[in-house]
Amino acid sequence: MRLCDLHCDTVTLRPDINDNGNQLSLDKGAVFDAWIQCFAAFIDDSDPHPEQTAEFIFDFADSQFKKYGERILPVETAADIDRAISRRKCGVIITVENGAALGGQIGNIQRLYDRGVRLLTLTWNGENALGFGAVTGSGAGLTAFGRDAVRKMERVGIIPDVSHLNTRGFYDVAELTEKPFVATHSNAFGVCNHPRNLTDEQLAELFERGGLVGINLYPLFITGGQSATFDDITRHVEHMLDLGGEHAVALGGDFDGADMDGDVKSLADIPQLYEYLLGKLPESTVNELFFNNAYRFFKENL
Ligand SMILES: [Zn+2]
Repeated sequence: MRLCDLHCDTVTLRPDINDNGNQLSLDKGAVFDAWIQCFAAFIDDSDPHPEQTAEFIFDFADSQFKKYGERILPVETAADIDRAISRRKCGVIITVENGAALGGQIGNIQRLYDRGVRLLTLTWNGENALGFGAVTGSGAGLTAFGRDAVRKMERVGIIPDVSHLNTRGFYDVAELTEKPFVATHSNAFGVCNHPRNLTDEQLAELFERGGLVGINLYPLFITGGQSATFDDITRHVEHMLDLGGEHAVALGGDFDGADMDGDVKSLADIPQLYEYLLGKLPESTVNELFFNNAYRFFKENL
């Protein structure tokens, strides 16, 4: 099977990327016939030096990608994706989780792009210079800086990620952008009413705009509890498909960013999830979800 996953926090934890006791490693991914993985540099809302932390994580990631250059190919362009697949390497897309990494400087968008960043999650859980996280409960939209940043990102070529962002901010992004945007790791509020999940209206907007939604495997966002089964995950997939998401639903596992329990505990369980879904949905739909939708999106938008 082939996998294109939109979110993990593995490099933020700074383990050996090949062989570690975490939820995601090159070893665990060796089973995939093709594998494109987004690796996020995560910045905490309380980090007093967000720009430096981002640089520190990028440097660590670069050193690991070099160390395992035989098995990894950094993806910065559409052509890199096919290069990674044909060479049977893990295609790595660098992302940043938390617009705090900009340090309030619009010029840092170009700097992030030059470091290979192709996706930026605008907020994390709290408030930052761009806007408000969904769990703040704030009804405010993006700040003036946040609006400038989103426009600039579109010009430079960094895709806005609305996972974690509050509802009003989501609609600001929809209004400010012409190109598609993504929710890398969010589920359906209609199935599990956690504020981190997206309402039917938000999902419909993303689908209509040609965006992507990555199914998050953190049980809290699947069931509201501490454990989730393959069937619980399937309900989010089916709900999104019912809303017209056949060509927009992807996977955004959140490995190494969340406590996982139940049927999916790590990347090693993904092939079983794939098999389970094959018993529920047409094979073509399952392949869209695990790989094709995100592959097509990145081919068109990188
Ligand atoms: Zn996250």
